[in-house]
Amino acid sequence: MPIPHGSHDPYVRVRGASEHNLRGVDVDVPRDVLAVFTGVSGSGKSSLAFGTIYAEAQRRYFESVAPYARRLIHQVGAPKVGEITGLPPAVSLQQRRSTPTSRSSVGTVTNLSNSLRMLFSRAGDYPPGAERLDSDAFSPNTAAGACPECHGLGRVHRTTEELLVPDPSLSIREGAIAAWPGAWQGKNLRDILDTLGHDVDRPWRELPAREREWILFTDEQPVVTVHPVRDAERIQRPYQGTYMSARRYVMKTFSDTKSPTLRAKAERFLTSAPCPVCGGSRLRAEALAVTFAGHTIAELAALPLTELGRALHGDGEAARVLTDDLRSRVAPVVELGLGYLSLDRPAPTLSAGELQRLRLATQLRSGLFGVVYVLDEPSAGLHPADTEALLTVLDRLKGAGNSVFVVEHHLDVVRGADWLVDVGPRAGEHGGQVLHSGPVADLEGVPDSATARFLFDRSPAPVREIRPARGQLKVGPVTRHNLSGVTAEFPLGVFTAVTGVSGSGKSTLIGEVTEELDGVGRLVRVDQKPIGRTPRSNLATYTGLFDVVRKVFAGTDGARRRGYGVGRFSFNVAGGRCETCQGEGFVSVELLFLPSTYAPCPDCGGARYNPETLEVTYRERNIAQILDLTVEAAAGFFADTPAVARSLATLLDVGLGYLRLGQPATELSGGEAQRIKLAGELQRVRRGHTFYLLDEPTTGLHPADVEVLMRQLHGLVDAGHTVVVVEHDMSVVAGADWVIDLGPGGGDAGGHIVAAGPPAEVARSAASRTAPYLARQLV
Ligand code: ADP
Ligand code: ADP
Ligand code: ZN
Ligand code: ZN
Repeated sequence: MPIPHGSHDPYVRVRGASEHNLRGVDVDVPRDVLAVFTGVSGSGKSSLAFGTIYAEAQRRYFESVAPYARRLIHQVGAPKVGEITGLPPAVSLQQRRSTPTSRSSVGTVTNLSNSLRMLFSRAGDYPPGAERLDSDAFSPNTAAGACPECHGLGRVHRTTEELLVPDPSLSIREGAIAAWPGAWQGKNLRDILDTLGHDVDRPWRELPAREREWILFTDEQPVVTVHPVRDAERIQRPYQGTYMSARRYVMKTFSDTKSPTLRAKAERFLTSAPCPVCGGSRLRAEALAVTFAGHTIAELAALPLTELGRALHGDGEAARVLTDDLRSRVAPVVELGLGYLSLDRPAPTLSAGELQRLRLATQLRSGLFGVVYVLDEPSAGLHPADTEALLTVLDRLKGAGNSVFVVEHHLDVVRGADWLVDVGPRAGEHGGQVLHSGPVADLEGVPDSATARFLFDRSPAPVREIRPARGQLKVGPVTRHNLSGVTAEFPLGVFTAVTGVSGSGKSTLIGEVTEELDGVGRLVRVDQKPIGRTPRSNLATYTGLFDVVRKVFAGTDGARRRGYGVGRFSFNVAGGRCETCQGEGFVSVELLFLPSTYAPCPDCGGARYNPETLEVTYRERNIAQILDLTVEAAAGFFADTPAVARSLATLLDVGLGYLRLGQPATELSGGEAQRIKLAGELQRVRRGHTFYLLDEPTTGLHPADVEVLMRQLHGLVDAGHTVVVVEHDMSVVAGADWVIDLGPGGGDAGGHIVAAGPPAEVARSAASRTAPYLARQLV
């Protein structure tokens, strides 16, 4: 398809897109519209919208503003595409982005904190004689504003010997210091103590008090030469090791790490209390002495946004301009169903959907025009009642002169689009084609489209018989967040959906289900947290199937002849791996001012192994080629290796046949990570009753994938287990045996069980905001 020329061509025209599974795609998408990209998981939507269109816009931007970055971009690689014309600058609000740091909050993400500080600086009421403060002085994140006691954290953390060493009968070698990191780092610290002359084999409680005190709490960081013991798999040279006390390690991890897992682990060794000086407000006394409309800035930051809007009414010209601006920026956040959040809410406690909608609302006032926004499932975590507001916001971005390209599954959003790009027909190598690019209505009659089947099918859902409960699990009374004294009953042996608008208290409620409760049995939470945070963990290592594959390789004649054991085929230890990238296949590229990114290893080209290891083959494939197989291809290849075949079969069952075995954890979406965990669960031999809890398992899934997933989950129930899902997808809710609806609103306007019963009954509830949408699904 040649590209027509003309100065006012209103299309973004893509030619020969071949990123990942795309098959030389040519597609034209109009600018200044809301365009939705659909298709089953793994079909290539993201590869087109993010991997090609957004990536190319980014590349051009880097090249124009940062010529020095050119070499690095070359290393990172440009998207595989022939040509793109008509492409505006792009802004992406992707959910997979790195998690925010512990210091960011709703206020900082939306920039509303800045404006509020400006208001206090310029138009606040100061105590007599006090000097006017700079707006920085109202920020807990600056030296000028932070409470000197807690450094602006609002809480003080302490740790104690009892927390750090829960079992003093153990020796250091046996793991007495529970707070230490695991694996190599922990051994390193132990070896350093050993080198320093401490007895690492004596029970902890028998060590002299002064020694224990030093080991746990010292701020000294002595450097010593460590001679590690040799073991069979790795031969290590002496090295310089730096000691860090357990307290220092815990504190440092807690304040610096970006990994929520590590942070949570560190937190277990800390007790915390509100800061006695600032009372938790994080600010200096001078700042807290200033008020606006009778409130301190800390009080305003703690109000739900719905109330903040009402509280902000200023007298005088300066105040009015500032409060008008603030209220106009709070409005879209409230409109997107997030009015229950307060400015001081820490960003790491927000869900991915909440965070993306906050960023979206913030963009409305950015004043940008002529850009293309590329969004990743903005409806994730959104109740159907709030979807219309989302469409309104997207419409406004468009009205301001922008193009809005979204990858979406929610059919109401798809129906609201001006333009539809449907990718398919299936996943991985069976996808990668554009089946339709045009108005939504014209998708009807596109024969291979899975999207068409769901978008235009108006036949009623098949009636399923409601399963009887085998007992009840009573949870509560729960008093936490916005729930006060709520008691819920979860029926056992059935499929339950927990519903309610965003912020109504669903996650808070299911967070209370624990293994200690009678009737739970084994509790399995299948969440969307990443299966790993570095390219070092991947599908094959996570599921354990790689262990079997390595045994298979070690058993080949080629490996035996060369004397290669199982360890030789690991990319995590020295021996068989490529040492340049230490088996990662990638090297990290640091870009000044930009997030660091990964580029293929210059030595092994991403293979992860050294050439000698790659000489060994099994059925004509080397170990790197195995990691490159998709699950589907591997299932055929390993059909006669039962331990591998079983893992692969369950991965196929949850619709992940398109993933490659070596696909790094960092490239997987939250939904994919969740389904990998689910597959792991499905594969286990289950004895007794298991209680499965899943938070929005349909996130990122096309309706066709949802069908597959539901077959699996209902299968678990049929096998005698209990499944509870938090869900917004009404097709899933309609298929449940029992529904618990929370609400009626979010935050203080929610927190009650509005209705509970079989779907048909909840659909008739007059008080439930879920009812009308559920009823629509049931007819
Ligand atoms: P969708 O967005 O439709 O779910 P993707 O565009 O993410 O699909 O993926 C399309 C195909 O490309 C899949 O087979 C997927 O495994 C593969 N893929 C995705 N990301 C990468 C990557 N970084 N490297 C190699 N292959 C990838
Ligand atoms: P849902 O899962 O229905 O979206 P949540 O259970 O996440 O709702 O939230 C219910 C209420 O509790 C909301 O007002 C929310 O702002 C508040 N909340 C949730 N998590 C936290 C937290 N970690 N800190 C403070 N408030 C929270
Ligand atoms: Zn303080
Ligand atoms: Zn390498």
